[in-house]
Amino acid sequence: MESFLDSLFTGRYDAEKRIILSLCEKGEAFSLADLARELDTSIPKITRIVTEMENAGFLADLGKQESASGRRPSMFGLNPNAGYFIGVEVGQNSLALAVTDFTGRVLHFQDEIPYTLTNTEESVLGLCATVRKQVRRFHLNPSLIRSVGVNLTGRVNHQTGYSYSYYISEEKPIRNILEAGFERPVCIENDSRGMAFGEYMSGIAGDSHTVLFLNVGWGLGMGMVLDGKLFGGKSGFSGEIGHFPMLDNHQICRCGKVGCLETGASGLALHRLITERLGKGQPSILSAAFKDGREINLGDILSAVEKEDVTAIECVEAVGATLGRAIAGLINIFNPDVVVIGGRLCVTEQYLMPPLLGAVNRLSLNLVNNDTVIKVSRLGKKAGAIGASLLSKHRLLNQ
Ligand SMILES: [Zn+2]
Repeated sequence: MESFLDSLFTGRYDAEKRIILSLCEKGEAFSLADLARELDTSIPKITRIVTEMENAGFLADLGKQESASGRRPSMFGLNPNAGYFIGVEVGQNSLALAVTDFTGRVLHFQDEIPYTLTNTEESVLGLCATVRKQVRRFHLNPSLIRSVGVNLTGRVNHQTGYSYSYYISEEKPIRNILEAGFERPVCIENDSRGMAFGEYMSGIAGDSHTVLFLNVGWGLGMGMVLDGKLFGGKSGFSGEIGHFPMLDNHQICRCGKVGCLETGASGLALHRLITERLGKGQPSILSAAFKDGREINLGDILSAVEKEDVTAIECVEAVGATLGRAIAGLINIFNPDVVVIGGRLCVTEQYLMPPLLGAVNRLSLNLVNNDTVIKVSRLGKKAGAIGASLLSKHRLLNQ
């Protein structure tokens, strides 16, 4: 596969061009004087480099903009039309899809695309066909689609291209099958890490470089950006905060161990707590369904919270308090700039956050806690697909 960067990297100023691409990656614009300062070089040399990058279609002159000194220099940033990047989040029975341009702007988002990924090559290729069919509806120039990012649940090693949840028994990594199906470079990542990268790049963290993202969905996962880099650990298995053995609740976790954080702070925990209360006869708008033996899913519980069902709200508050205890510990360990709370339970923010913040304030070390801001996800349900798309661009530019 010919590299996207082949037309830019021809041996001349390659190192400088890489730095300029990475400076502009979050969508910032720079004057020639700014760039000369950043690269510690002369204005004539930076002018030559920028002109080459403009001619190759990677940078664009964004026009004159006000500067602090009142002068109006021309500003340069990424050329939005240099390419499109596709991000896919693989859910249990559906896909979410985002398309971003070269500046990171989101052009399209679509979720609830029905698809169930199973453990066969046909199924992986079927996912590619489903995504390609959807993307055709956006009428993008196919030759400008540069790469695809795919978020998968569970353990993912993006370097080897193997997922340990999907297509695990074969010798070929799932990434290679996806690349054959998309006919593009593909990067795979764990869902929580992809979401963390999306939030980091979308600006919720401002200029911060250490960001923890808690993905509070049916399970509980974490993505970490440490010193500006997405952290995967040795084999891509990092962030398993859901299986931190910190609770004394005698609950058996999905992993087979007892007392994992996920058993008290996740959608799964919320489901257990409310089912226990319904079993004791506590009144709720879910009582009738429970008595009839109908299945109550996470969506039902979240909609009960939205309708201000007191029993459901109390359960969300209990989850918030437990999650807050864990975050207090994380803050003490990592001293992060920002902790972002994301995932499906975000919609209960109004009830989840007060006990969460209370526990963090009570239990974390004051000096460390003062450094940290806790925010609710800005991208919400779009975080995964947008993150996957931005990450696929990031890895293409930084390989
Ligand atoms: Zn566990």
